[in-house]
Amino acid sequence: MQNFHDLVGGFHHFRANYFLKEKEFFESLAHSQSPKTLVIACCDSRTDPAIVLGCKPGDLFVVRSVAAIVPPPEKAGEYDAVMAAVEYGVKHLDVDHIVVMGHSNCGGIAGLFNPQAVRKERFTSKWISLACPAVERINEENSQEDLTQRMRLSEEAAVLLSIENLLSYPWIEEAVQAQSLSLHALYYDMREGTLNVWNSEIEDFELATR
Ligand SMILES: [Zn+2]
Repeated sequence: MQNFHDLVGGFHHFRANYFLKEKEFFESLAHSQSPKTLVIACCDSRTDPAIVLGCKPGDLFVVRSVAAIVPPPEKAGEYDAVMAAVEYGVKHLDVDHIVVMGHSNCGGIAGLFNPQAVRKERFTSKWISLACPAVERINEENSQEDLTQRMRLSEEAAVLLSIENLLSYPWIEEAVQAQSLSLHALYYDMREGTLNVWNSEIEDFELATR
């Protein structure tokens, strides 16, 4: 997909190959949605959660933010797109799961290791600073590791920080306590083509198997 016209062509391909061939399915979705899962993913063009997680229209309620960051309550803006989507997903759509999916080679996390690169991007630099606590902790605890490894660990830690921030909203914490909502941390490695899932028992990410 190189230009706008290709997108229109892409739509006609979708219409001919999916929409018209699965009319009943799309008719059932036309008037309402009831996704069971809310996904918070990075804006990165390579990490579309519906494609990576093999989902169909209607399966996922998706919010994408740079580096899949969720702001904590004290830093959420008065007009906050991420929290508006999370609130709608939890309170209105009543999703059962929230998944935060980070990924390898994340430009947002890389920006925290090289602030000069995003110095002129006012909104971007401000936004990624929300993940600073995760990166600072990784740098402190892993000072012997090389930059590539510290970036990788920071990408994972930022996902966990987003989960922690989600839990600092009382209405999310209450839903988790009541077991009507569960939170999941995923890390998609696009070099290896692997998905890692946070396992709270071993306190580490582990390879997702079937
Ligand atoms: Zn990213």
